[in-house]
Amino acid sequence: MPLLGCIADDFTGATDLASTLVRQGMRAVQVIGVPEDALPEADAVIIALKSRTIPAREAVLQSLAACEALLAAGARQILFKYCSTFDSTEHGNIGPVAEALLKRLDAPFAIACPAFPTNGRTIFQGHLFVGNHVLNESGMENHPLTPMRDANLVRVLGRQSEGSVGLIPFAVVERGAGAIRAEVTRLRDANRRFAIADAITDAHLMALGEACANHALITGGSGIAMGLPENFRSAGLLPAREDAGALPEVGGLCAVIAGSCSRATLGQIGLARDHVPTLELDALATPDAAALAGEAKAWMAGKLDAARPIVIAASAPPERVAALQQRLGREAAGLLIEHAMAEIAAALVQAGVRRLVIAGGETSGAVVQRLGVHALRIGAEIDPGVPWTHATPDAAPEGMWLALKSGNFGARDFFLKAFA
Ligand code: ADP
Repeated sequence: MPLLGCIADDFTGATDLASTLVRQGMRAVQVIGVPEDALPEADAVIIALKSRTIPAREAVLQSLAACEALLAAGARQILFKYCSTFDSTEHGNIGPVAEALLKRLDAPFAIACPAFPTNGRTIFQGHLFVGNHVLNESGMENHPLTPMRDANLVRVLGRQSEGSVGLIPFAVVERGAGAIRAEVTRLRDANRRFAIADAITDAHLMALGEACANHALITGGSGIAMGLPENFRSAGLLPAREDAGALPEVGGLCAVIAGSCSRATLGQIGLARDHVPTLELDALATPDAAALAGEAKAWMAGKLDAARPIVIAASAPPERVAALQQRLGREAAGLLIEHAMAEIAAALVQAGVRRLVIAGGETSGAVVQRLGVHALRIGAEIDPGVPWTHATPDAAPEGMWLALKSGNFGARDFFLKAFA
């Protein structure tokens, strides 16, 4: 019976959350999509949806179905996980999904806290920062699917919600769990449905987690999960675990595929280019998924190795992304490349790749679907928020390792470090 039931709006975000929970001593399994069978055994089950950019109504239905499965399995608390850069369109889906979950859980209020200080995402006076930049000057304003042009999350969530949105400011969070609890009561009495919670350090996230021990629903990035395992331990529900992240060993070849156009991924490809065989596909020159996949398959022959990866990337800088989108439309451009990357991943696994890094949230979703991955057991982290995971997909039933990297995550040498 899981203690914590989580609903994540994309695959890499789900992994990042699961990793946070493993680090805090919970065994975590990530399930791909709403499962038809019984949920796997774990302290925390994370249902990974691909609902970040689909129409809001559809995202609500999928999230409610996930919530139902988690409640049926016995989950005592529900966490709705979204991106630490609050990735969403003007119409949602964070607000509509959170409101539907509150209603299902018969709860009046939830906090919203995407902060992840370890990765440079902090919130002050409701404004989200990525490193030294406000969200809307961080590169996120150019995201292919969810351009974020407002750093004021009280305003952003307010535009997506029917209920009103308040703020738990730094001055309150800094004073700890007791002060946060009092502020939550005040906000609830003032008919706020949500409050953006400021958080600049992990200590703030721990205090917020402690303060929300009795909340039916918590919403935020993976950071907000940091304080939750301790709530279950101190309630006597979770034993102390040393080996929460142990994974079965695998042998086989190594590869990286990248469909993220985020700054961090572009930097990682730039570094990999100097050290390992790297193919950069040009979707503007070849706007056809099958042709791109064919090019990659021809190129990879003879280059695969067990000691170092090859890198295959469709990623491009903002002006080239914009050019392709102008030609094909935003959605069609994204889908074309996701199809190509999924096809390339299948070819890599067929060629014997058993350790595969995938850069990009949407890209990871497409690849995992294509490989027939149903669940991921979460292991040790390569960089903050990105663990190796073990899966037994249809394409490699004997088992393989996958690392699903959110576009903006990971150090510059991530693609090399993962295999070192
Ligand atoms: P991130 O984690 O950085 O957000 P995603 O994979 O979620 O990365 O999103 C990146 C999107 O951009 C995907 O839909 C991908 O197919 C698309 N994409 C990748 N390369 C290009 C390109 N060269 N031109 C246009 N779109 C691209």
